[in-house]
Amino acid sequence: MDNVCEECRSKKIAEGSLLNMSGPVGFYPEGEESKIKAKYSIVKCKACKDCGHIFDLRLVNSSNI
Ligand SMILES: [Zn+2]
Repeated sequence: MDNVCEECRSKKIAEGSLLNMSGPVGFYPEGEESKIKAKYSIVKCKACKDCGHIFDLRLVNSSNI
């Protein structure tokens, strides 16, 4: 995917991770959230600096799911 905002077509795109106060936001397959050794992956994304649209959400470790 090109680094162009899907909403406003801006090319001022930042890449990063979704974070909460304690670390990155993870994707957990259904039923894994409460397990001690849960399968999960950190979620990465891109964000438009002009309109704030977040897009291209991606799992860093999709093979771990
Ligand atoms: Zn935009």
